[in-house]
Amino acid sequence: MIRYQISGRNPASHYFEVTLRIDNPDPDGQRLRLPNWIPGSYMIRDFSRNLLDLRAHSHAGELAIEQIDKSNWRLGASSGELTVAYRVYAKDLSVRTAHLDHTHGYYNGSSVFVEVMGQGDQPCEVLIEKPDAAFYANWQLATSLKRKQAETYGFGLYEALDYDDLIDHPVEMGAFTRITFEACGVPHDIILSGRFECDQARLAADLKTICEHHIRFFGEPAPMDYYQFQVMVVGEGYGGLEHRASTSLIASRASLPKPGQTGVDDDYRDFLGLCSHEYFHTWNVKRIKPAVYQPYDLQQEVYTDLLWAFEGITSYYDDLGLLRSGLIEMDSYLELLAQTMTRVQRGLGRSRQSAAESSFNAWTKFYKQDENAANAIVSYYAKGSLIAACIDLKMRELTDGQQNLDAVMRRLWQACIEQGKGVEPDSIQQLVSEITGVDLGSFLQELIYGTSELPLTELLAAVGVEVEQRVAKNPQDKGGKDVDAGLPAADFGATLKDGEAGLMIQRVVEAGAAQSGGLSAGDQVIALDGLRLNQAQLESKILRAKPGDVWQVHAFRRDELHQFEIVLQAAAATTLVLKATDQQQAARKDWLGC
Ligand SMILES: [Zn+2]
Repeated sequence: MIRYQISGRNPASHYFEVTLRIDNPDPDGQRLRLPNWIPGSYMIRDFSRNLLDLRAHSHAGELAIEQIDKSNWRLGASSGELTVAYRVYAKDLSVRTAHLDHTHGYYNGSSVFVEVMGQGDQPCEVLIEKPDAAFYANWQLATSLKRKQAETYGFGLYEALDYDDLIDHPVEMGAFTRITFEACGVPHDIILSGRFECDQARLAADLKTICEHHIRFFGEPAPMDYYQFQVMVVGEGYGGLEHRASTSLIASRASLPKPGQTGVDDDYRDFLGLCSHEYFHTWNVKRIKPAVYQPYDLQQEVYTDLLWAFEGITSYYDDLGLLRSGLIEMDSYLELLAQTMTRVQRGLGRSRQSAAESSFNAWTKFYKQDENAANAIVSYYAKGSLIAACIDLKMRELTDGQQNLDAVMRRLWQACIEQGKGVEPDSIQQLVSEITGVDLGSFLQELIYGTSELPLTELLAAVGVEVEQRVAKNPQDKGGKDVDAGLPAADFGATLKDGEAGLMIQRVVEAGAAQSGGLSAGDQVIALDGLRLNQAQLESKILRAKPGDVWQVHAFRRDELHQFEIVLQAAAATTLVLKATDQQQAARKDWLGC
């Protein structure tokens, strides 16, 4: 048993104080280590950068500590139990690390708990202490960790099966709002921290609908006996991280359902999609996982071609789940699918990087995107979800609607329950061919490892959905909707935003008008054809322009003024809209459930 204790005695200082007691340390010198990344977020984050004041004591006194590398330490030789103490600076308001101030406390175990090497499989206890000052008297605690000696939602003693379990139940503390519901008999909590207005009954009812849909999708019983949605509500923010019996989310207050609000607006739809996404991960990636993640090596990058399947298939079913469970309508779903298709279609990176390569290089490319990302990479989320749609629709077409991707997911789940086996690079391809009885090897190979255009237009036609292409109306146009007003014929080939000294170029399209004329991301455009423009004026100037028009552009690069001649190109029809037709209605109903 490893006994941890964590307190945030003075939240204003942003420090968590951690101690651990090791009853049977390695007598030759106990080694300790801290993860360098957190499962679900594929980037080396070096959590040890926030660890300080590391000390160790045995009954004989203070022990020497040798630092082996950035996240590994060896304590001096000792006999009998020893105690380790350190502090962790916690001021990252994200779902990946830890945050502590007077408004709330939050941590992932991977940021704050060192692992006792050689004893990672030992059960752990953690005593979580409340800050003493009267100001914090009403703070409560929320986590999916098992309570050992603590009131419900109280500070006190919690337990974990082993180190892996200890770090997979994030902890939220503060004066939060708690909403409860049951899904297929399993108790669920929504924990909301921050300032917000929310129709709590509606939120509970909608999340119950999604959760029951996903539980029934994979088959009852649910794999957890309790589940928690932890939501940090902020002004601007979006994101989530999945865990085995909880998820941590960051959401904007505009995305919560307001009291009296009816219908699902775009912001609330995004929030429901995020909850649906993270909940689907309870199966797909938290339990059905790549074989190379069994177990995780949290010291270094672990490469896999399969993130397209774990993030992409999850992204496919997150929105589809909203539709099939009746929370959104078909037109709304087709709009979301068209927006995903538009995101992929607009980046040249789709012809450079396959979904498998995007997965493999997540550590250095997808998670470290710069201004050239759209030209260089494709998202394994977006393309992965379109690959999932292609596989689903192809299976339906080949088997006359008898088989589909749902069956593949259920077979993966069965194999996980029965054999505990991880997913190998070719597991999904094999299952698809096995279930359909057709060798789909080369079709799947091109989807996953190739860079040619996805065959969605043909596949969607077979379920009565037509793909329309048009040019983007303006930079805010995400696709998926018809537009009434006129569309530009010409394209400047850059994304710009209003800056202090003019228009700042954020990105340029490779070989587009701006780049061909010499402009670059980071340039400050101060005049176009001799006039200062803001973004709205630029948009209306583009609306009046024709391909081949030449613009004189004055722009600062660093502190040097340059003049450029930009020849406008024809706007490309990379924005997609999907329309249900009156064809193939039975096949479409079978696919969408409505
Ligand atoms: Zn995800």
